[in-house]
Amino acid sequence: MPDDIQRAVAERAADRREQRDAYENNKLFKRLARQVGQAIADYTMIEEGDRVMVCLSGGKDSYALLDILLRLRERAPIHFDIVAVNLDQKQPGFPDHILPEYLTRRGVPYHIETQDTYSIVKRLVPEGKTTCSLCSRLRRGVLYRVAGELGATKIALGHHRDDIVQTVFLNLFYGGKLKGMPPKLQSDDGRNIVIRPLAYVKEADLENYAELREFPIIPCNLCGSQPNLKRAEMKALIRDWEKRFPGRVDNMFNALSSVVPSHLMDRELFDFAGLKASGRADPAGDIAFDEDPCGADGETGVAGDPQAIRFIP
Ligand code: SF4
Repeated sequence: MPDDIQRAVAERAADRREQRDAYENNKLFKRLARQVGQAIADYTMIEEGDRVMVCLSGGKDSYALLDILLRLRERAPIHFDIVAVNLDQKQPGFPDHILPEYLTRRGVPYHIETQDTYSIVKRLVPEGKTTCSLCSRLRRGVLYRVAGELGATKIALGHHRDDIVQTVFLNLFYGGKLKGMPPKLQSDDGRNIVIRPLAYVKEADLENYAELREFPIIPCNLCGSQPNLKRAEMKALIRDWEKRFPGRVDNMFNALSSVVPSHLMDRELFDFAGLKASGRADPAGDIAFDEDPCGADGETGVAGDPQAIRFIP
C-alpha cells in the first residue's frame, strides 16, 4: 500500500479511537455523575452554603471524587464551596509537587497539611506489622482539626461501593458485627460531618475514569506498610463474585438500605420482648415460613417459588 494511503488509514483509525474514547468518557461521566448526585440527594450530603473539604490522597478514588464534585457543582442548583486538602505524612519518596501542580492547574483552592505521622507510626508499630490502623487514626485526627481551621462544614472522603461492601464482610467475618461504612456520619470527635459521595460508585468505574481523565496518581505503597491481608481477601472475594455471579454484589449492596430489624436478632433495634399479636394481618410482615431467600436461580435473592405457602389471607 502506498505511503500516503497508509498514513490516511492510520489517521482515520486514530480519529475513530479518539471519538470512541470521548464517547466512553462521556458515558462513564454521566453514570458517575448520576450515581454521585443520587447519593448526595439520598443522604442530604451537601446543602446550600456548605464548604466541602475534599480529602485528596493522590489515589484514583480521591482524584475522581474531587473531579466529579467540581463538574457537578457547575450545574448544581445550590451553591457550595470546595477546598481540597492533602496530608503530607512525610513518607519517604512522596512527590510533594504533584498535587499542588494539579490543583493549581485545575484552579481549585487547596491546603497541604504537613505532619510527619510516618515517623510516629514507624516508632510505635513493631517491624512487619500492618501500620494502616494507627496511620489512619492519626490521619483522621489531623484532618478533623484542619477541617475546623478551614471552616469546612463537610469532610468528603473517596470511599466507594466496593469499600463499603468489603467493610461489611470484614465486620461480619472478623468483627462479629453487622456493620458497614455509612455514606454520612458524625466524626468521632463529634465536631464534623463526614460524607462519602462515591458510595454508589463501583471501583472498576473509578479505575476507568482515572485512566480516561489521566489523573497524576501517586502510588499508595510509599510507606512500605504490609498490605492489609484481610481487606485484600475481601476485595478478591468480591471481585470474584462480581465476575462469576453478576448482580450478587449489587444485591448485597442494596440489602444495606433494605434492613428488616424485626427479622434479625438485635434487641436494641427491635422490641422482641414487647411483641404481641395485633390481630391485624400485615401483608408486609412475616409469612410464617419465609420464602426461600435464594430463589430459583440461587443468586438473585428474589424468591423463586410463587406457590410458597402463605398463612396470611
Ligand atoms: S498504606 Fe501506608 S499510608 Fe496508607 S494507611 Fe497504610 S500505613 Fe498509612
